Amino acid sequence: MRRIRFATALVLSMSAIAISVSARQATPAPKGTPSPAAEHHERSPQDIFKVYPLGGGVHALFGRGGNVGFFVGPDAVLVIDSEFKDIAPGIVEQIKKVSDKPIKFLLNTHHHGDHVGGNEVFKQFAMIVAHDNVRKRMLSSPTDIQRDYPAMIESAKKAGNEQMVKALTEQLEWARKVRIEEIPAPIMTYDSELRIYMGDETIQVWHLPPAHTDGDSVIYFEKAKVLHMGDDLFNKVIPFIDVKSGGSVKGYLAALDKVLAKVPADAKVIPGHGEVTDIAGIKAFRQYIADVLDAAQKAKSAGKSKEDFLKDVDLPAYKDYGGYKDRFKANAGSAYDEVR
Ligand SMILES: [Zn+2]
Repeated sequence: MRRIRFATALVLSMSAIAISVSARQATPAPKGTPSPAAEHHERSPQDIFKVYPLGGGVHALFGRGGNVGFFVGPDAVLVIDSEFKDIAPGIVEQIKKVSDKPIKFLLNTHHHGDHVGGNEVFKQFAMIVAHDNVRKRMLSSPTDIQRDYPAMIESAKKAGNEQMVKALTEQLEWARKVRIEEIPAPIMTYDSELRIYMGDETIQVWHLPPAHTDGDSVIYFEKAKVLHMGDDLFNKVIPFIDVKSGGSVKGYLAALDKVLAKVPADAKVIPGHGEVTDIAGIKAFRQYIADVLDAAQKAKSAGKSKEDFLKDVDLPAYKDYGGYKDRFKANAGSAYDEVR
């Protein structure tokens, strides 16, 4: 899977890397890396894109990476997330099939490479907008990569994962030579929320408490009643929780509750990964987070060490979720660290 560019480098494990990756050029997935939503990632090149009209001019667009959303207004198009550089031109092409209006805005839900990798393409014609921390983390990625990747390359070598070694090494080379001003970070940022008015639609952009990262935003189209959750929602997929980028398991509960309090029960919901869902989908994901925290709390209260907890912890109800094998224990470990 792709590359690890704006991925704050700071990932805990090889499986974490696979999600927080980015791409200037795509590379094939290192063998054995999980895909957060296999149903999106394993499509053949011809049918990689799927566009779902959700009413009121809002569409979900699935390609490879974090799900894209776009809104066709009377004068312009607004896009949410840009996946990877190599497929960004294809995203633009899909949007052009729906509307010939100019693409004027790109919102980034957070800084991970599978959501901002295509920014380089969009910056040529669109204003890129995101939370302050998205810009900060994208601009600090060369420093972070140079600090963290040499050790990660060593452990990938030890594990015999040649593809990972190659991908990480390429990233490190990029980090050593890139000029900061070349990084296609958002040029307009906000600290808590923002509204964009297009025709009779009001687009609400809300920064949430630290959950997936500390720069997460969700976007709500008031009239269309469509919500784009970014990676604050993985639908029937085990999340990657990027604690090194300020994410938090407990924070997920706070973030999800904030959203649930704001949007109506009949809203349609685009997750960062997984299929389009509804408010019940958010509640099911919230239950997963609550269950992980609960398991960690019980173990800690019983005096179990983290090591012993991670040896036995299992939540069979979520076994069918994508990425259970690869990311569940990482979620459980983070939860153990956070509970008292
Ligand atoms: Zn992400």
